[in-house]
Amino acid sequence: MVEEDLMDNFNDDWILTRFGENPADALGAVVPPIYMNSLHIFDSMEAYMDGRVNPIFFYGRDGRGNPTVEILENKIAALERGSGALMFASGMAAVSAAILAVCGAGGHIIAMHNQYGPVKTLIDDVLTPKFNISATYVKGTEPSEFEEAIRPDTALILLESPSSLVFSVVDLRAVADAAKKHGVKTLIDNSYCTPVYQKPLEMGIDMVMHTASKYLGGHSDIIGGALVSKGGALMSEISGRIRALFGGIIGPMEGWLVLRGLRTLKARLSIHSATAQVVAEHLENHDRVRKVLYPGLKSHPQRELIKKQQTGSTGLISFELDADVETTMKFVNKLKVFQIGVSWGGHESLVIMPLFDTPEAQLGIIGADRNLVRIHCGLEGAEALIYDLNQALDSL
Ligand SMILES: *Cc1c(COP(=O)(O)O)cnc(C)c1O
Repeated sequence: MVEEDLMDNFNDDWILTRFGENPADALGAVVPPIYMNSLHIFDSMEAYMDGRVNPIFFYGRDGRGNPTVEILENKIAALERGSGALMFASGMAAVSAAILAVCGAGGHIIAMHNQYGPVKTLIDDVLTPKFNISATYVKGTEPSEFEEAIRPDTALILLESPSSLVFSVVDLRAVADAAKKHGVKTLIDNSYCTPVYQKPLEMGIDMVMHTASKYLGGHSDIIGGALVSKGGALMSEISGRIRALFGGIIGPMEGWLVLRGLRTLKARLSIHSATAQVVAEHLENHDRVRKVLYPGLKSHPQRELIKKQQTGSTGLISFELDADVETTMKFVNKLKVFQIGVSWGGHESLVIMPLFDTPEAQLGIIGADRNLVRIHCGLEGAEALIYDLNQALDSL
C-alpha cells in the first residue's frame, strides 16, 4: 500500500505513528535520528549554488531547516490537512511570525478578549506602540461581532477556540466565510483541541497555530510552536523571510521530542478527555462549586456548536467555588495531586488561579471572577483527582 492510501485509510493514527518516516534513510533505525548538526556540506560550489535556488538543507535556520524537524513539520501539516507546516522556538514565535507575515505597520487586527494573555500583551505592548498596528477586541461568541469589526485596513482575525480560560467557542465556519468575503486572513490558536479533536483548515480558516509546549510535546519538557496553512505562498514567505530572518527556529532535540510526543498524542488525549469529563461532572454536582466551565459538559452554553466543530474536549477545566479569593487560595494550597503551576498538556495534573490579580473592569469582559480556578487533568487517573479535590473541598 502506498502512503496516500494509508493516509486515507488510517488518517491521524497513521500520521501520528509512522507517516513520513523512512527507516531506510537511517540505516534501518526504527526511530528517526536526531540530526544534531547546524549545517550541511556540498561536493562542489555548483551543488551549493543550486541549493540556494531549490530549497535544500544547507543551514539550520534557513532553507529546509533540519531533517529531524522536517519529519515533524510534515506530520503536523498532514494532521491539520494543510499543505505545509513550520516549527518554531515557541508558540509565541509562531503566532508573532504569522502576524508579521500578514499585517504591516499601521495595519488592523481583530482579536478576542479571551485570547491567550501573552498574545494580547504582544499586540498592546509591542505591535501597537512600535508598529502602529491597532486592534479591536471582541467577545467572539457571535460571528457578526467579527464582521462588524472589519475595517478597510483589517489584515487579520485572530481566534482561539475553545479559549483556554473560560472555554468560549467561535463559530469557525461562519467567521472564515465572513473574513473571506472581505479579503481578511484568519489565524486560530488550536492548542486546546490539537489537530486530533479539531481541524480548522477544513472549516475555511487560513492558518493554524499551536504551542508544542502543551499536548503535542505532552511531557512538560520542551518549549516549541507550529504554524500550518493550506497556502503555499504564505508559508514560503514565512519560512524564507519571517522565520529565517527573525530566527525563531526550533532545535533538533526539541523537534525530536515533539515527534516522540506525537506517537502517543491520541492515546494520551483519550485519557485526558475521559478523566476531565468525569472530574467536570463531579465538580458540577458538588455543592461548594458555583460554576464549572468545560466544553464537554451538557450545560456549556455553546454545546451544539461544539458538537459541530470538535470531536472531543481535552483536560483543562475551570471552576469557581462558592467562596471568596482567600478561601479559594486555601483550597488550592490543600491540593496534593494537582500541583500549582502554569501551563498544561503534560502527564501531570496542575492547578492555578489565573485571574487572582486581574483588574475589576477586565473580569466582566473575560466573563469570570477572580476566584476562578483552572485545573489540568493529567494522567494520574480520575480516582486520584476526585479524591484530591474532595479532601481539599472538605477542608474548607
Ligand atoms: C502556552 C500557550 C501558548 C504559547 O505557547 P508557548 O510555547 O509557551 O510560546 C499559546 N496559546 C495557548 C492557548 C497556550 O496555552
